[in-house]
Amino acid sequence: MSVNAPVRETLAIDGGQPVRETLLPYGRQSIDEDDIQAVVETLRSDWLTTGPKVGEFEEAFAAWVGAKHAISFSSGTAALHAAAFAAGLQPGDEAITSPLTFAATANCLLYQGARPVFADVSPDSLTLDPEQAGSKITSRTRAIVPVDYAGHPADLDSILRLAERYGLVVIEDACHALGAEYRGRRIGSISHMTVFSFHPVKHLTTGEGGMVTTENAEFAKTLRCFRNHGISSDARHRQAVGQWHYEMVLLGFNYRLTDIACALGLQQLKKLGANLSRRKQIAARYDAGFREIPEIICPAVRPEVNPAWHLYPIRLDLNKLNASRGEIFRAMRAENIGVNVHYIPVHLHPYYRDRFGYQGGEFPVAENAYQSLISLPMFHGMNDGDVEDVIQAVRKVVDHYSS
Ligand SMILES: *Cc1c(COP(=O)(O)O)cnc(C)c1O
Repeated sequence: MSVNAPVRETLAIDGGQPVRETLLPYGRQSIDEDDIQAVVETLRSDWLTTGPKVGEFEEAFAAWVGAKHAISFSSGTAALHAAAFAAGLQPGDEAITSPLTFAATANCLLYQGARPVFADVSPDSLTLDPEQAGSKITSRTRAIVPVDYAGHPADLDSILRLAERYGLVVIEDACHALGAEYRGRRIGSISHMTVFSFHPVKHLTTGEGGMVTTENAEFAKTLRCFRNHGISSDARHRQAVGQWHYEMVLLGFNYRLTDIACALGLQQLKKLGANLSRRKQIAARYDAGFREIPEIICPAVRPEVNPAWHLYPIRLDLNKLNASRGEIFRAMRAENIGVNVHYIPVHLHPYYRDRFGYQGGEFPVAENAYQSLISLPMFHGMNDGDVEDVIQAVRKVVDHYSS
């Protein structure tokens, strides 16, 4: 070792002192007294489900994202399923989506009996590559399902152009992207249907929950009907008009979001702006903290985009490191930094391999990205000390393994 070589700190995984005493998770909800109060008030009210809070939340949400219609669901997955139904997907149809996503994005197509056709992602944004998507279109293609990975909107203009040319429905999986902007416009009214999730790690939580926004009244009507068994009017409406008669007009599900959940959602919506700006600050601090580290590639941001920073996924330049992503991941966890990996490409899961015969190697950009991705902690409630801990731990671990 040369005399000028830096003294390397002993990693926690090798018995050294961890950067933090306690584990910092990668994502976490923020719940305050107003949130708790709103839920308690609803518990004391006449309506626990499908009461006034559902409509209030849907209207406030639609206004916030700038969409005409917002229809709530019991989860983001239920919302995706409903969107696949409203798009008219059925057995024999194909829909094109990204492999670098949560399995639910592709599963919702299978629920309708349609075939998910994966297309590779762009190397910078890791969102669906429109050229790759275009090359997968056949006479059976009915929809495209881009994913706003990590909160960075997909290349929506190019995808919508494809959709127009081939008569396809665009279902945007914006479960990461509440509050993101594309060409100065908030995500939620750009695609034919846009899907959000209110799982606790997302920007706004209702415990479990989801939403579809759309400009299309016909889609909105079908979505409402689908989430309520396929019944064409809701219980409160029937009570209001003193009617016992109802009609089931399509095969739907019970995918309703409760009044309890919507009361929480309404409160959470008020803090969404603050949540988003805090995430932006954290991302800027990470960018600055990692700029000088050649082994790390920070998430790209295209000029036309303002990301919502659901995740902050770095990529490791494994050529410059004498450790695998797995070793670096374990070393970071030992430092008490709750890193994660988003995502195992969907086609590589045993279910997809067995059913569709994927073997790996089909989508090299997504698969290579997966080999080197690590998501760092990113949530509203992180304080400046937490952010510095993450930067320090990344420096310590990368320094130790740099070749
Ligand atoms: C969270 C998420 C979903 C599913 O949402 P749930 O509310 O957990 O059902 C779907 N797609 C993506 C990309 C997600 O991150």
